[in-house]
Amino acid sequence: IDEKFDAIVIGAGMSGNAAAYTMAKRGLKVLQLERGEYSGSKNVQGAILYADMMEKIIPDFREDAPLERHLIEQRFWMMGENSHTGLQYRSDDFNEEKPNRYTIIRAQFDKWFSSKVREAGALVVCETTVTELVQDAYGKVIGVKTDRGGGQIHADVVVLAEGVTGLLGTRAGLRKIPKPTEVALAVKEMHFMPQEVIEQRFNLKGNEGVVIEAAGTISKGMTGMGFIYTNRECISLGLGCLVSDFQASGESPYQLLEKFKRHPSVAPLIEGSEVKEYAAHLIPEGGFKAIPQLFGDGWVVVGDAAQLNNAIHREGSNLAMTSGRIAAEAIFQVKSRKDPMTASNLSLYKKMLDDSFVIKDLKKYKDMPQLLHVQSQNFFLTYPQLVNKAMDNFLRVDGTPKKEKEKMTVKSFTSARSWAGLFGDAFRLARAWR
Ligand code: FAD
Repeated sequence: IDEKFDAIVIGAGMSGNAAAYTMAKRGLKVLQLERGEYSGSKNVQGAILYADMMEKIIPDFREDAPLERHLIEQRFWMMGENSHTGLQYRSDDFNEEKPNRYTIIRAQFDKWFSSKVREAGALVVCETTVTELVQDAYGKVIGVKTDRGGGQIHADVVVLAEGVTGLLGTRAGLRKIPKPTEVALAVKEMHFMPQEVIEQRFNLKGNEGVVIEAAGTISKGMTGMGFIYTNRECISLGLGCLVSDFQASGESPYQLLEKFKRHPSVAPLIEGSEVKEYAAHLIPEGGFKAIPQLFGDGWVVVGDAAQLNNAIHREGSNLAMTSGRIAAEAIFQVKSRKDPMTASNLSLYKKMLDDSFVIKDLKKYKDMPQLLHVQSQNFFLTYPQLVNKAMDNFLRVDGTPKKEKEKMTVKSFTSARSWAGLFGDAFRLARAWR
């Protein structure tokens, strides 16, 4: 490709597609490069799509996007060995004309999103890996090289939307490789079964859907969670824990996933299903403190590559697409003023992102990743065990006077964590949450 572009976008995931679409729609000359066979072929997600953020990019996306089910119910499970204590919210108000959250299958959704990027006028080239960022003598990024040979491709600005590992940015010295405490490794399976079976098991009708998020003994004291999402004809089921915890414990993700599937609360939901897909992927979970430099001379970084992931709320794709859209809008503004794509001009992207929910939310939870990591044995093993034991004790009618039962429960907590430990944990959690 000999021509020069206004922008090159590396990657066709949520963030890359949002950036390429937004810039192309505003008339910029955009080249998007994706190493996968097609957009979505390399991408893994649960997956929940957050409609509000998608609407800000393609307002009428519901008309033809491949959506699975809209969510009307969320269950949070605190897992014991053979039990779970749950919090459940189900509302018919979620059966609204324009539902707020959907389950999607990324391979199909990204393919659709990519078709919109092409329609908007961007040149999308798949099966092409960017091997290097091209920098001038002053370190300004001026283009890329790919595995297709053919020399350098030049652009005013390069949008790094290459996902969590972010190898190109790292190799070019623009950011550091995320630490093992800043990324989770997640494994996921797709369990197929007839639509009616899913609807019966989860008490659903039509396109209604349910999400289950589960934490507790399933992760054996490691910082991590399991999830179950209902699609139309299959269930996505998976589990992820911090890479550093896998390293320290020697546990394998596959064994944990098997254990999760065998749990008596989970097994009946997937009984008789056929597993057709298996995937593993990293999730950035370092939060606010792990966000790298977001812009420089001739470049910006968006989505997972910028660690923009809210692990507490299990939100990633919406932060990815919002950062992609905002980067594109900032680039468009700089371009409209006919200003060069210098770091100082591109700092507009960071300013706009700081003003958005993306950075505000990550900032709110800035101390959570560290707390959950350091206290993982307590939050992901001891407390779930104690809560489930307390529920068993509370519900079991065996002639023990209630007063004595209460004492037993209090004693089980204080002997596992002492009063000082309990108050300390509550205080630390409240402080990190606020
Ligand atoms: P990606 O989607 O990873 O896209 C990066 C793209 O760049 C890929 O297509 C890749 O092939 C391409 N690429 C990389 N390097 C190169 C290169 N050198 N040259 C060319 N192309 C390149 N988020 C949610 O919002 N809801 C969920 O329910 C949810 N569940 C999840 C469950 C799992 C198991 C996982 C792993 C993640 C989940 N997430 C979820 C997070 C979400 O998937 C990510 O936040 C989102 O995909 C990030 O989008 P992205 O565009 O930044 O990166």
